[in-house]
Amino acid sequence: MKILVINSGSSSLKYRLFNMEMEEVLAKGICDRIGFGMGSVTHKRPGKPDYHAEMIIPDHGAALSALLLLITDEELGVINDISEIDAVGHRIAHGGEKIKGSAVIGEDELLYLDSITGINPLHGPAGIKGIEACRTLLPNVPQVGVFDTSYHSTMPEHAYIYPLPYEYYEKYKIRRYGFHGTSHRFVAMQCAAEMGVPFEQTKIITCHLGNGSSITASKYGESIDTSMGFTPQDGLIMGTRTGSIDPTVLTYIMKAENLSAEEADDIINRNSGLLGVSGVSNDCREILDEETKGNKRAALAMNMLVMNVKKLIGSYLAEMNGADAVVFTAGIGENSPVIRSRICRDMDFFGIKIDEEKNIAASTRGAVDITAPDGTMKVFVIPTDEEYMIAKDTMDIVKKL
Ligand code: AMP
Repeated sequence: MKILVINSGSSSLKYRLFNMEMEEVLAKGICDRIGFGMGSVTHKRPGKPDYHAEMIIPDHGAALSALLLLITDEELGVINDISEIDAVGHRIAHGGEKIKGSAVIGEDELLYLDSITGINPLHGPAGIKGIEACRTLLPNVPQVGVFDTSYHSTMPEHAYIYPLPYEYYEKYKIRRYGFHGTSHRFVAMQCAAEMGVPFEQTKIITCHLGNGSSITASKYGESIDTSMGFTPQDGLIMGTRTGSIDPTVLTYIMKAENLSAEEADDIINRNSGLLGVSGVSNDCREILDEETKGNKRAALAMNMLVMNVKKLIGSYLAEMNGADAVVFTAGIGENSPVIRSRICRDMDFFGIKIDEEKNIAASTRGAVDITAPDGTMKVFVIPTDEEYMIAKDTMDIVKKL
């Protein structure tokens, strides 16, 4: 079965074509700068040279046409005809309150997604454009949506309601939704498999630490709490986002500097976090480099990240009455032994102890158990693979159609 996975951004369209029988990626790439004059297309196939071209890509439909031409091209292609595509899996950022799992996207679902773009103005319209383009160009192919929020739809009310007047939840659906759900679900399931325990019998804390970061508590196979909230802005300090702050800080700065809501949004989303504190970069590698040169603000930013993660792990251990494992994933979680080591330091109270040699060696591909021999809680490094999870969900759904 061949599944095309599509991730539509406001000005980009990423794709990955899977052959699910072999669990292999046939091709992947990105159409960039859609709707911005000259755009570009990059198309990659394993073991073959990459293809790159500059072209005007007026809209998501044009991007999809370009990628369909590429994957069926005589020289650059990986399939003979688009009829070989059995289904399309779409990465959709927000499924609102109603969508609780991956699902076929028909007319009703599209209308629902359109109705919730107000709470998802950045990614909502882009996701819809991607689905619409696929429905036009691949009219007989099932379209499946896999939602960043849906894994967290199992959170109890007391985990997702904000302590605001309840009417704002009723009027505007302001609540914690959580994001990165596909990644948390994938690595938590992998972790359970590594431990040889059914997912439904595990308690796992997954730390997705990348440019955007979140931590999730999964109890007996379900997300029961997560650090991102109404938007991906909540929770941990991130590359350029604040994470959780005293909300009054924002209104104070807005008044003091006479800022509009858009300007304030920009500050907390694009100019804050590791970048805002360090003044160096949003990239953890550059901040770590500066820290070793004695840059105090770089050290401060790193200490804040480490403390944020420790606090959340501690709170989820309290919420779940312990856990079987902690998992590190995404750019920082998978690649930075230094950050993993600092997070796990002085956590032996919880039974968290890592083997430093295994920790350093773990920065490769594949799941690695870095637990020290006397650690009673497992610690894993597990590379995330959201695209594979999307393809797998899509396959499972279309097989039942
Ligand atoms: P992601 O959003 O998951 O792609 O993660 C991107 C982030 O991972 C980058 O901004 C880097 O800060 C971080 N990263 C990647 N490699 C390393 C590394 N070797 N050490 C520390 N951070 C890393």
